[in-house]
Amino acid sequence: MFFNRKPFEVDHAPTLEVVGPIERPEWEDYLFNRYPVIGKAIKDGWNPNNGWETLEDEQVKKYYARHPDRWPEMLQAFVEQNRRAQHREKHRDRFALAWANGRSWLKGLEQSNFPPKPVEHPDIDDFKWVQGEPAEFQSPAHASKLVKKMVFTFGASIVGITKLDPAFVFKNTMRMKGGNRNWGEDIPKHWKNIIVFGVPMNWDPMYAAAGYSTSYDGYFRAKTASGLLAAWLGELGYAARPQWPGGDYETVLPPIAIQAGMGESARNGVLITPELGPNIRLAAVITNLDLEPDKPINTHVRAFCEECKICADACPSGSISKASKPDSVVRGFRKFAFNQDSCYRFWSTAPTDSGKGCRVCIAVCPYTRKNNWIHTIVKEMDPRDPTGITRKTLLAMQHNFFYYPEAEAYHPDWTGGNFAGYHEPPEWLRSENYLKVTKTWEYDGNWEGF
Ligand code: SF4
Ligand code: SF4
Repeated sequence: MFFNRKPFEVDHAPTLEVVGPIERPEWEDYLFNRYPVIGKAIKDGWNPNNGWETLEDEQVKKYYARHPDRWPEMLQAFVEQNRRAQHREKHRDRFALAWANGRSWLKGLEQSNFPPKPVEHPDIDDFKWVQGEPAEFQSPAHASKLVKKMVFTFGASIVGITKLDPAFVFKNTMRMKGGNRNWGEDIPKHWKNIIVFGVPMNWDPMYAAAGYSTSYDGYFRAKTASGLLAAWLGELGYAARPQWPGGDYETVLPPIAIQAGMGESARNGVLITPELGPNIRLAAVITNLDLEPDKPINTHVRAFCEECKICADACPSGSISKASKPDSVVRGFRKFAFNQDSCYRFWSTAPTDSGKGCRVCIAVCPYTRKNNWIHTIVKEMDPRDPTGITRKTLLAMQHNFFYYPEAEAYHPDWTGGNFAGYHEPPEWLRSENYLKVTKTWEYDGNWEGF
């Protein structure tokens, strides 16, 4: 961690504002649980034109009963996937290196069995690596200090610790494969604290979102760190339950990371951290080890987002609210409205080979900046400026000095775009630099090194 959070610590996170009864998340709230069910039903002969009401799966139906306007977006995603498959081959010369990069990390993520998926109830599984009686720490503060040191050793860049809040524990497991949906609502008694941490995605491909980026490098590293930390806790005699991307969680990590002081919630629906902005992929370990929790912070991300709207203007699917103030309530918390299903529709359109990703809203965000001297200064100045002048100046500079492709330009050519990226792709993902291909395309985006 290279941002001193102490001056910004608060008792209550401003971007976790409670405005109604808090509800725990349900399995169907997670998009990656819904779409495989719908895809399988279509494959098995179910006719989507009959409407979501005719689906067999009660939980997916429950979601679309709450959000009927989102159903056409989800259906369109399947249409887009087919269209993309038809156009794939003719773009192979251009995207060969980007696809190879993304698929390598994806294979690593999907085929690595570390940490192993839990197979038993947590009362058994979380203790499988426990070696003998728990080692006694001098104090919870000592334990927290050492745990954080180990998290960095295991490869993460930012870490926070908080008590596990039931508000962010799924009512039933959301683990996608090998998971049991009939989990029940009880939270295991040994789930006391959660250590949450994150790693950045590789910066230069991320900036070239959507076509040249991948989330899987961040996922893979975060997953590995969660396994290593769980093993370390077990060696010292403590229960450990790793939570890792893309779907192996029982918890919703962004709000937990906010409680743990890692950052704040943004307009684009993701966590913004002082060090890495929203360029962070999260994992965590739940444990029974007594730990000293961190406090949430207030670096005025909400005020910045209220004026900024850059991600909402850039979003190729129009999924991010352009309202001046947070305009929706999600399970009791006030947030900017966000449409998961239309976002996924664009993921199914974007020329990423495996069909899962866009990240334009992360790439364009003014907080997504490497820590050179100028960015380090403004990150310290803006949250200390009660007048908002720093924020307004930064936003004016952002709009006037940086080129932003139009939202439509991020689309592939078969839907009227030209595969734009916020940045041009890094030289090592440009096929024409390494492969025997004829370059027939131009890049649209900021200069790659900017
Ligand atoms: S990932 Fe892409 S489509 Fe989804 S909200 Fe962000 S910019 Fe929009
Ligand atoms: S782009 Fe602007 S509005 Fe969007 S998350 Fe970043 S700071 Fe907030």
